[in-house]
Amino acid sequence: MRWAQLTLVENDPGQYDPRFWLDYFRRTHSDAACLSAGGCVAYYPTKIPLHYRSAWLDGLDPFGDLVAGCRKMDMVVIARTDPHAARQDVCDAHPDWIAVDADGHKRRHWAMPGWWVTCALGPYNFEFMTAVTREIVSMYHVDGIFTNRWAGSGMCYCEHCRRNFRAATGMDLPRTADPRDPVRRAYIAWREQRLFDLWRLWDTEIRKINPAACFIPNTGGGALSDLDMRAVGARAPILFADRQARSGLMPPWANGKNAKEFRAGMGHKPVGGIFSVGVEEPYRWKDSVQNGPEIRLWALDGIANGLRPWFTKFCGVLHDRRWLPVVEELYAWHYRNERYLRNQESLARVAMVYSQQTARYYGGARARQKVEDHTLGYYQALIEARIPFEMVHDRLLDPAHVDRFKVLIFPNIAAMSDAQCGQVRDYVTRGGSIVATYETSLYDEWGAQRADFGLADLFGASYAGGIDARMQNSYLRLETDPATGRRHPILAGLEDAQRIINGVSRVHTQAAPGYRNPPLTLIPSYPDLPMEEVFPRVPKTDIPEVFVRQVGQGRVVYFPWDIDRTFWEVLAVDHWKLLRNAVEWAAHEPPPVVVTGPGTLDVTVWRQKNSLTVHLVNLTNPMMMKGPLREFLPAPAQQVRITLPAGSKAKKVQLLASGLIPRVIEGIGTLTLTVPAVLDHEVIAVDL
Ligand SMILES: [Zn+2]
Repeated sequence: MRWAQLTLVENDPGQYDPRFWLDYFRRTHSDAACLSAGGCVAYYPTKIPLHYRSAWLDGLDPFGDLVAGCRKMDMVVIARTDPHAARQDVCDAHPDWIAVDADGHKRRHWAMPGWWVTCALGPYNFEFMTAVTREIVSMYHVDGIFTNRWAGSGMCYCEHCRRNFRAATGMDLPRTADPRDPVRRAYIAWREQRLFDLWRLWDTEIRKINPAACFIPNTGGGALSDLDMRAVGARAPILFADRQARSGLMPPWANGKNAKEFRAGMGHKPVGGIFSVGVEEPYRWKDSVQNGPEIRLWALDGIANGLRPWFTKFCGVLHDRRWLPVVEELYAWHYRNERYLRNQESLARVAMVYSQQTARYYGGARARQKVEDHTLGYYQALIEARIPFEMVHDRLLDPAHVDRFKVLIFPNIAAMSDAQCGQVRDYVTRGGSIVATYETSLYDEWGAQRADFGLADLFGASYAGGIDARMQNSYLRLETDPATGRRHPILAGLEDAQRIINGVSRVHTQAAPGYRNPPLTLIPSYPDLPMEEVFPRVPKTDIPEVFVRQVGQGRVVYFPWDIDRTFWEVLAVDHWKLLRNAVEWAAHEPPPVVVTGPGTLDVTVWRQKNSLTVHLVNLTNPMMMKGPLREFLPAPAQQVRITLPAGSKAKKVQLLASGLIPRVIEGIGTLTLTVPAVLDHEVIAVDL
């Protein structure tokens, strides 16, 4: 439930204080540790030729000593290896183990002079690191091997990669990163298979020695991650989300997003959330320490979203100790409340789909802008709307994975196979609802454009040929149904508006016959300069900019424009209301929890064995969108209404952060209560 990672540096042995670390593990109630063992540097008396021992080892066994200390405290221990780099003697003895660039040169390490980058797909990993792995498990009987940077450091043109790729495909290695190139596609599939082969090899060798242990790759993530998360989730008994802190512009909910993305592939299997205590920027201040509130909020958002916390520290000699009490306090709270943190399932009824194939084959080199920015925009909108939600992998759209949700969101999930479109159609036939944006289903699974949307029948709209990639100064007209004199509920909160801003890109669509009174219509772009010319040339059209439909018991909302991506860029409140309303209208049922009050909260709702919890993570902060918190600003009191699972009754309700027992009003299947000010995090725990 609580992980501690100490990554030793080469000169730690003999200099750092292992007793301090073991005591810190104890004080933090860490029940599992990840400790540096081998690879780049061995921290134990290895007998494997070319496995470089720390020059400070001096007859010591720092890894073995830490393992023994952890075992005395009954901790689970996994060993960390890192095979991505090697020293000169390795290069001299086995030049073919070193990665080669496109020009045929051996790759020197980008950060460490004198070291070399190794090839991940050849004998260095398959033979040498297999021997290292075997030796560590045999000598220390660890519970697992966790391998960092095991999948290579970019494209490799070494003799093994060239030969093996040719043997497998009959082709020479690709010279382009363009995913439309068939050679590139073949390489993507071959590399993935090679890494899964390596995974299987290491796992098999580990289990031969310790059947209860396993190989744990440092891998996984969302749409931009490279190994298929469906396949990863099927193989891994446990995984760790290695997103250590914010980088660039990244709100603190990004850690919770990792949790959701990993869970989409992993299901109920445990996922640890690796957080570091320093800043994560390209300049790599690896010994830095962030402000306490920043460390806390990042870790708390992960915990609220189901991650088991894992702190990681590089270097056994501490140059800055300010993080120690922060993590100790957080872990002590986690330990005290552990029974309410052993989640069995999320009770969220909404899920957002993510798609690695869309990022890979439709997004290509621009996947961050073309794919991920849509997801981030809808994610931010759901956070602001306080709608608990999960994420779903696009290759897991079968009933077992999606029927627990009432609404699936497709934020520009452009690349979908016919089979995937069929699964979505079946989901709606079974009563599910969908919300989709922009080019969703307009491409097949390889990123080839279709003549029409794969989901045209559900959208009630067809592709009319053409995309406005960049609209300048375009608007949306809010329409009233002339028959009823009313507006569609998707426009709730915009009663006083006649028109709002449009997005930036739109797909030309043709409405299915019979689609009348669209809630939003297009006001086309008109000049934005000179100012004398800024007046609408066409004040009204009948071109729908949202399609809303009832399909049996299901509901469908389709925005043929980049509302989610524009929201991420511009954060216009009118777009937020549409994004929120679309989900609420599509859900058409009472949500599992409603939290009312000022501020921005990440709300999650969970079921444990005999309890239910609602987490409120207070993101209200002037630093929210980047996350460099100076201090917590308490969110004022919040009204909370919880819908209890059918047939259950609340025995006891408590607040796990403040320790208060709130006054609860019991309704029919509901609880209503007020949560006093939330400093950083509150958990409403309901014993059932
Ligand atoms: Zn290679």
